[in-house]
Amino acid sequence: MATTTVMRKQLFINNEWRDAARGQTLEVVNPATEEVIAEVASADRADVDAAVAAARAALDGPWGKLSARDRGRLVWKIGEKLLEKADEIARLETLHNGKPIFESRQIEIPAAAECFQYYAGWADKIHGETVPVKGNYLTYTLREPVGIVAAIVPWNFPLLLTAWKVAPALAAGNTVIIKPASQTPLTALALAEVATEVGLPPGVLNVITGPGSSVGQMLVEHPGIDKIAFTGDTSTGRQIMKGSSDTLKRITLELGGKSPNIVFPDADLDAALRGATMGIFYGKGEVCAAGSRLLVDKSIKSEFIDKVAARAKTMAPGDPLDPKTRLGAVASKKQLDTDLRYIEIAKQEGAQLVAGGGRADIGTGKGYFLQPTVFDGVTPEMTIAREEIFGPVLAAIEFGDVDEAIARANDSAYGLAAAVWTKDIKKAHYVARKLQAGTVWINTYNVYDTAAPFGGYKQSGFGREMSLHALEHYTQVKSVWVDLNQ
Ligand code: NAD
Repeated sequence: MATTTVMRKQLFINNEWRDAARGQTLEVVNPATEEVIAEVASADRADVDAAVAAARAALDGPWGKLSARDRGRLVWKIGEKLLEKADEIARLETLHNGKPIFESRQIEIPAAAECFQYYAGWADKIHGETVPVKGNYLTYTLREPVGIVAAIVPWNFPLLLTAWKVAPALAAGNTVIIKPASQTPLTALALAEVATEVGLPPGVLNVITGPGSSVGQMLVEHPGIDKIAFTGDTSTGRQIMKGSSDTLKRITLELGGKSPNIVFPDADLDAALRGATMGIFYGKGEVCAAGSRLLVDKSIKSEFIDKVAARAKTMAPGDPLDPKTRLGAVASKKQLDTDLRYIEIAKQEGAQLVAGGGRADIGTGKGYFLQPTVFDGVTPEMTIAREEIFGPVLAAIEFGDVDEAIARANDSAYGLAAAVWTKDIKKAHYVARKLQAGTVWINTYNVYDTAAPFGGYKQSGFGREMSLHALEHYTQVKSVWVDLNQ
């Protein structure tokens, strides 16, 4: 496993790299080796104020004056440059997050680039309308940027989730301050380099690194910031809602999930088996939409779960930098401890462990690796059926008929995603409509596209990422009335 020299990284404000005003730093750890790989500036209030001032000056200055088409060209170039630098950026993503290089290089970085290029095309197609009002007036609407957007991002898909916010924000003419997760700030800082390389004017894109509880909170409460675009834990979402209330900021919240993956006996069971394992083990289960509750019809459950468990046992974690690795390291010691704690709770509550359940060693004696874990015999009131674990831990629950499947699927505070596996087209669409979730997959799992909206029902948050719907959150509508009376 590669040993890296410690990188030193600064804040990016007004197209300048600078140390934090108080000189503080935080350490970034490679979860696959437990080594410190970077020392990153840890911002304070003065840095947040400087970023807000720079973002405001850009809005009032060169960025605000740029034509929409030229803005779109710059956003397009960000995507182009990300692809040019994909090898380098993918490596950083794997180093700080622990995900396999295959996922970073082949899936995440190209998807982030595509997100910028998708929204680049929208930049000069965002427009108002003329309104047929009563009386002799010309009335029209302008669709204007919201202003300064703070993008607060978690550690599981650091660059992609940043792109989901920054790309529509820039395309719509806003300026942004990115606050990456403390564990994974390196690719947001790489995006800042890209911003200078493509010629984004100073202040349009700023990156402030530091702990969420201090610097994140400062952004949330700052009177100079117009909108918070947040992805993260549901409990943090609650704090953001409270913290932004004094300034009545616009907020969008993409939060946690406990998504049901429902298998009916009339499904293509081989495909459902792949969907069940990929649904929970892709991304080490650190996927907000992970299919962490596997709901299986009781007539096939025993045989189906045996196969899921057998498959899980073949999925050994490996060195994330090895291109053949498909299961990487859990992103942090804290997350590994959380996963192990939930595994213990599941055992104590009587769930039956049928695969995994412990740490894995990839031959180095180091790293936060966890065996893919499957619990059978989970009942809906058990903790692992109700709380988000955010790790490679699957809870299998049985159901008796279609209505019970729907009831159990909806028996959750969350509503981010869901899937249904059946060859019966009527049943599939019936269930899709009944499920309380922002995304429903039929006979597939974990597919996303920049053109399709993604976001939560219930306590999985509100607002949508990607698609035309996301642009709505980054613009506001002004009505202009012209008196035409003689
Ligand atoms: P987290 O809420 O702890 O942190 C997310 C971000 O918020 C980080 O940048 C963090 O520094 C910052 N933050 C923390 N406290 C803050 C505060 N008080 N004020 C402002 N900012 C604060 O979440 P995490 O552990 O990094 O990520 C995991 C969670 O994210 C899971 O619950 C997962 O389901 C969720 N998630 C949701 C989606 C989605 O699209 N719905 C996508 C990915 C992850």
